[in-house]
Amino acid sequence: METLAAARAAVQDVVPLLRGRRVAVLTGAGISTDSGIPDYRGPDSPPRNPMTYQQFVGDEAFRRHYWARNHVGWQHVHRTTPNAGHRALVRLEDAGVVTGIITQNVDLLHEDAGSRNVIDLHGRYDRVICLQCGRVISREHLAERLDALNPGFVESVAGDVADVEIAPDADAVIEQTSHFRPAPCEFCGGVLKPEIVYFGENVPRERVDRAFALVADADVLLVAGSSLTVMSGLRFVRRASKDGRPVVIINRGPTRGDDLATVKLDAGTSETLTALAEALT
Ligand SMILES: [Zn+2]
Repeated sequence: METLAAARAAVQDVVPLLRGRRVAVLTGAGISTDSGIPDYRGPDSPPRNPMTYQQFVGDEAFRRHYWARNHVGWQHVHRTTPNAGHRALVRLEDAGVVTGIITQNVDLLHEDAGSRNVIDLHGRYDRVICLQCGRVISREHLAERLDALNPGFVESVAGDVADVEIAPDADAVIEQTSHFRPAPCEFCGGVLKPEIVYFGENVPRERVDRAFALVADADVLLVAGSSLTVMSGLRFVRRASKDGRPVVIINRGPTRGDDLATVKLDAGTSETLTALAEALT
């Protein structure tokens, strides 16, 4: 495979930095693109206005629109499978190189691949939380309720799904949503929200602390498939750099952490992480 041969050559500068070291990994949308989940901040992506927490909480019509799109989009994420990049990180964890993964993705593909120590920084697509009583239910259970409330809805847009934009938070773009009926919490009638951290919302403190501890416990920070656009990921690069830890970045296109990187590889994660796993395990 030509790209793998190129990747084997490209990782030669990185292998000595990682060999015999404990490596914490930070991943973003770029690692999931080869699984069919578009990276809406990637270099080839159209500009997109992400929904904010304030919009979701404050606007009932907006929530209806969001849930309609999410009801289609989440099924796409649900059907995706891990790729070579996810599997390479499992091999590196099994070999004692990778100590854990902090991921900005909500798709659970690291867990599906078999990674054991994963911090889902921005939440996970398969859970829903009630903003009033705090109960957490599975997205699968909610899907059954939404199907019952909106018979035929998914089928009515199924033909368009191939053309529908699917964003990493399972937010598919569909126009005809005005008749969609969202489900209230079945326990208290409160507003349900995917257990995903939106723009304008903070990552829970305990989760941030665990992620900083993972970075502090490692010798090196490896960033794979993130443009580090948001501070929630960039802060780990800044901390590692400040503490004198080498930072390796693998990403297609520029990142906000490039100035802090010891080595930056402008490359795809599937072939590059595969080449790293070959060299280090
Ligand atoms: Zn509730």
